[in-house]
Amino acid sequence: MSELSANKLLSFAEARQTVEQHAATLSPTQPELTGLLDAVGLVLAEDLLADRDFPPFPRATRDGYAVRAADVQTVPARLKCVGRIKAGANVEESGINLRAGEAVEIMTGAPVPTGADAVVMVEYTESEGARVTVKRAVKSSENVVPAGAEAHRGDVVVHRGTRVQHAIVAVAAAVGRAEVAVYRRPQVAVLATGDELVDINMPPGPNEIRNSNSYSLAAQVYAAGGDPVILPVARDDAAELAILLRKGLDADLLLLSGGVSMGKYDVVEEVLASLGAKFFFTGVAIQPGKPVVFGEVALDRKTTPFFGLPGNPVSTMVTFQLFARPLLDALAGANPELLPFTQAILSAPLTTKTGLTRFLPAKLDGVHDRPGVELVKWQGSGDLMAAARANCYIVVPPDRERFEAGEAVTVLPY
Ligand code: AMP
Ligand code: MG
Repeated sequence: MSELSANKLLSFAEARQTVEQHAATLSPTQPELTGLLDAVGLVLAEDLLADRDFPPFPRATRDGYAVRAADVQTVPARLKCVGRIKAGANVEESGINLRAGEAVEIMTGAPVPTGADAVVMVEYTESEGARVTVKRAVKSSENVVPAGAEAHRGDVVVHRGTRVQHAIVAVAAAVGRAEVAVYRRPQVAVLATGDELVDINMPPGPNEIRNSNSYSLAAQVYAAGGDPVILPVARDDAAELAILLRKGLDADLLLLSGGVSMGKYDVVEEVLASLGAKFFFTGVAIQPGKPVVFGEVALDRKTTPFFGLPGNPVSTMVTFQLFARPLLDALAGANPELLPFTQAILSAPLTTKTGLTRFLPAKLDGVHDRPGVELVKWQGSGDLMAAARANCYIVVPPDRERFEAGEAVTVLPY
């Protein structure tokens, strides 16, 4: 066992590459049609096409007057106001065809009538009865989006493999899709191990703790477009664990928590090995999360990838995000995504030991032109209260011991 662990300790970059490469070999689940809002967080299994030109008509982008730009090159210019067009108006029916010396009052989102080629903002005009004085020149096409400028009918406006969020929902709604084809949520079995654990609806004994990892993992799985299936907690007992593990292997992905460290009762790897598991790594040079295990088990003609995530709650959360997430994305049909690393200015100095890539819970905030980040006070990787006060990790490379206040550091948002 310890031999196995020593053998496959990878650097963070190597481990991440390993999961990305494995993810690329996986096929997504079956597509299904779903209501547009139920698709949020899931991945499109089809391209979305524009059903018409966008915009479908030359669209005024300001409230003001539609004019011929040539008429207002010398200002002030007095024009004859020949009507009013509001959003939704039928300009063809109104028969407006702007001629030289004419203007038409127009609202944002309204179709610009034939003859007009620009809109003057109302702020630069003065109207008196049927006359309007334009006080500022406009260029041809100013404040007008031509028909089809955003997309042409038949264009792919969102590609298959895109995760549905609010902007994708806007496009789907705009092209008239009340239902869209998405990949079914992959089933992700969640199996917590540990003699000290009780479920959240049970009173814990004085030396017991509640199983929080199954729930935090289920939340992360659901948010990533998976269907979490929480299995009963497994005791630190090889025979009991084997039974629950077999159940978990029916899912598309199996996530275990706990039991992968070097303790006497850490039996997860041993039981996985007894089921013929292939291990891709059995540790990563990170902190928290060093004992994380990744592999697959082929059983009953089905191969199921698994992660053995360390049981300390912060380790469980961060190793899910760093390593399990790409596999879940692939099973959910999503195009591969890079980790959303960013940079922020450290508000207080930071000291760690070298040798491991660290992911330290921190709070990202500050003003728009100077994003700041601050470590949260924590008692180490078991401190789930600290994790709840954080919204990101400060990422410290293995060769850095100290950062000063005011230095830019790499940050990974939750
Ligand atoms: P392990 O990885 O099994 O050695 O567990 C490391 C630490 O995490 C121990 O303090 C455990 O009590 C705690 N732990 C393990 N599993 C869970 C869980 N499901 N929920 C909350 N804490 C856990
Ligand atoms: Mg344990």
